[in-house]
Amino acid sequence: MDDCIFCKIVSGELPSHKIYEDSDILVFLDINPVNPGHTMVIPKKHYNDLLDIPTELAAKCVEVTKKVAPAVMKAADVDAFHFDINNGAGAGQIIFHTHFHIQPRSKEDGLKLWLGTPTDQDKLAKMAESIKKEL
Ligand code: AMP
Ligand code: ZN
Repeated sequence: MDDCIFCKIVSGELPSHKIYEDSDILVFLDINPVNPGHTMVIPKKHYNDLLDIPTELAAKCVEVTKKVAPAVMKAADVDAFHFDINNGAGAGQIIFHTHFHIQPRSKEDGLKLWLGTPTDQDKLAKMAESIKKEL
């Protein structure tokens, strides 16, 4: 897509710190890392988000992540990482070219996850039914 930053990184029009690439996938460092070594895994072809990308290609992103993430952890000297996607503007998605984050983590890094709120069994049961109805 013409105005997509990640398409421009794929084409070489914009620079990036590349870590890995093959015919379908590009892996490069996030320009604004939550922790050192924060890495993006993207399909070279443009799709908007997780629901848009073909399942086989998403699976290939996971396969590449399993290869790259151990190297990221070693280089960043941590023993954990988040593998996540912000899917949709409401979830904080800014770049609408499907991308997966590898975010190096350790217990000592001070980052706080969002807090869950305890709820009751009735609410959980109703929500499970509502979701199952939509499947
Ligand atoms: P999000 O869409 O919320 O999942 O986040 C998009 C991510 O892309 C953010 O973490 C940005 O720091 C990152 N980002 C934006 N522009 C660039 C760029 N030119 N090179 C590398 N990462 C980028
Ligand atoms: Zn794109």
